[in-house]
Amino acid sequence: MIASGAIEDLLPPLDHEELLVRRGRRSGLSVMVAVHSTARGPALGGVRLWSYARTPLAVLDVLRLSRAMSYKNAAAGLPLGGGKGVIALPAGRDRAPLSGRARTAALLDFADVVDALGGRYLTAEDVGMTARDMAAIARGTRHVTGLSRSRGGSGDPSPLTALGVEAAIETICERLFSTRSLCDRSIAIVGLGHVGARLAQRCARAGARLVLADVDASKRALAQRLGARWTTPGRALTAQVDVLAPCALGGVLSAESVPRLRCRAIAGAANNQLTEEPVAALLAARGILWAPDFVVNAGGVINLAVELRPEGYDAAEARRRTRAIGETLARVLDQADAEGTTPLAAANALAQRRMAPAA
Ligand code: NAD
Repeated sequence: MIASGAIEDLLPPLDHEELLVRRGRRSGLSVMVAVHSTARGPALGGVRLWSYARTPLAVLDVLRLSRAMSYKNAAAGLPLGGGKGVIALPAGRDRAPLSGRARTAALLDFADVVDALGGRYLTAEDVGMTARDMAAIARGTRHVTGLSRSRGGSGDPSPLTALGVEAAIETICERLFSTRSLCDRSIAIVGLGHVGARLAQRCARAGARLVLADVDASKRALAQRLGARWTTPGRALTAQVDVLAPCALGGVLSAESVPRLRCRAIAGAANNQLTEEPVAALLAARGILWAPDFVVNAGGVINLAVELRPEGYDAAEARRRTRAIGETLARVLDQADAEGTTPLAAANALAQRRMAPAA
């Protein structure tokens, strides 16, 4: 049993507008949506299919993640609130993922929950989901974003996310080296998946000297193709480089790892890079410029916001708005300098101002 003290430690502030948890009538699984805020517009956030030791832990996750989406969407200046969906698999099911009819049943159960919220929550693809899964959810509700281009959606957001990370790195270089050019800058990218691989290609094209790493050894071929140095994820994390770009899992910046870092700055796609908020102060104390992840990796949600405009999706407009992540980051860093706070505190304050009722 979870001790009550432990639950309180895990709970995010409970300032959510709605939480809907159901036992799916087809699948028997717990499916849920948390709407944190609709102050700026309908709550947008992905749905993840994930295995939890206990259903209450899935509820904690959906509450925490929906709140983070409000901050991400508000910091990006989008006319959207924050929400999140979870389809919770019982413990151990991550090794035997849902397939066939059982998967469709869970997706349709989730669609019922989304539909019951009447458009206050808009769903999208997240961890454990595929484009095909999203198409199945769209059979049960119209409140689905990011469907494939052939189905009228904006498709894979990763290229836009990579573009936004590159814009953030350029802003950092302007601060530290008085030029936005990435030519001859050393950049370590940890994680060469959908986003990291594209970021590596963009940075190579811009003339950066790259250090690349992934747990998947097959990604070494990309390093060879780009003329980059290939190393282990642990070494890349502590490499002596201008910019470190975490593009794999969250939690890489902690009280243990920060003292070992040798980069000048950090900007990457990975969500939740800090194990806890006080790590932002540790980075600042070491003189390492950390660009808040939820500002840097907003390209995907910016893409969805363009899809949701009445005039429909326009790829050039999505790219233009995503490049503006560089300007948002500059504003956050200016604010942090002016107020003597960390970039995280400045980014949180920007999001909170934008979520305030009068904003
Ligand atoms: P992905 O699953 O396509 O790629 C992740 C890569 O990281 C894989 O190549 C994997 O082998 C590698 N990896 C896993 N563990 C690792 C480790 N310990 N060390 C080094 N490499 C490791 O994911 P993605 O879509 O590229 O997303 C990357 C990160 O960016 C995730 O944290 C994701 O939540 C975040 N993000 C992605 C998007 C998007 O548009 N895809 C948007 C916002 C945030």
